[in-house]
Amino acid sequence: MASPDDEFIAELKSEFGQFNFIPSTRFKWKAPNSIFYEAKTDYSFEDFALLTLHELGHALSNHKGYKTDVERLKMESEAWQRAKQLIKEHPAWQDRYRLFYNENLAETELDSYRDWLHQKSKCKKCGLTRYQTADGVYHCPNCEL
Ligand SMILES: [Zn+2]
Ligand SMILES: [Zn+2]
Repeated sequence: MASPDDEFIAELKSEFGQFNFIPSTRFKWKAPNSIFYEAKTDYSFEDFALLTLHELGHALSNHKGYKTDVERLKMESEAWQRAKQLIKEHPAWQDRYRLFYNENLAETELDSYRDWLHQKSKCKKCGLTRYQTADGVYHCPNCEL
């Protein structure tokens, strides 16, 4: 018997045939059309489904790449909004899989990006928060004066 994970992926494949759904070791969107999902996971079905929908959210939002980390954070947030919308558009998923949007999961995932961004933007010399210019380079307002 197919697991709910497999059934869900099969359903997404038939509805979103323009994308490739590829089993992998981690969740990832790769433009122009590849959605990677963790094939053997300890995730609950709900987390598995939501993380997959998040990657589909990147795909449907036409995300290609980012120059700055703030841009990336914005894309992450957008992909979660899209995942939320997908759930709204598919009430059948509630009946079939008991699948609901989970704000906490999205916030936890976004928090880890925010932390990462915070760590990354910290100046190694003086500890001040640096800013990133459009070319992707970080500058310290203190050390680069
Ligand atoms: Zn993402
Ligand atoms: Zn500095």
